[in-house]
Amino acid sequence: MEFLAHMFSGSFALYLMRLISPTSYEKTVLWVVLAMFFASMPDIDGFFGGTLADHHKSPLHKPIFWVGLGAIGYILSIGYGLFPSAYITIIMICVGIHLITDTITARTTGIAWLYPIIKKEYSLYTMDPSKGNFNIFAIRGKAFREYRKFYFQNEGLVIFEYSIFLLGVLTLIL
Ligand SMILES: [Zn+2]
Repeated sequence: MEFLAHMFSGSFALYLMRLISPTSYEKTVLWVVLAMFFASMPDIDGFFGGTLADHHKSPLHKPIFWVGLGAIGYILSIGYGLFPSAYITIIMICVGIHLITDTITARTTGIAWLYPIIKKEYSLYTMDPSKGNFNIFAIRGKAFREYRKFYFQNEGLVIFEYSIFLLGVLTLIL
């Protein structure tokens, strides 16, 4: 899934959590930044030189890594009262949405949900890793143009991604 769609999935998630629990979640700069940052944060592994097809190999795209961090966060929050547990919950939800939408929209790399027991990367559709042989932020050049052509072939996924992006923008304005 594209970076901006990930980012705005965070503001949409925060909006839903505000509906569910208006006393725990607020529409302040801190909450919006927290939600949008963690909704897109796993993709910073692209900064470390990996290609689009293999950037999910980093811990940031491994559910077990976030389960571990979440457990530590909840211990510090509930056990030691250092900060409200709602902060950890929104981070877990936003990262969870990132990994789920990466699985749904996977074109060149999926998510290894059962890592380290099973290293297989899961995806909703059949992937073609050969189309993702460029850095995630290298949005110029032939490889990227070919990837874009491949990306727009699956219209359902494109509509899905852009809908999430638009919902995020709308809920930020509302
Ligand atoms: Zn990702």
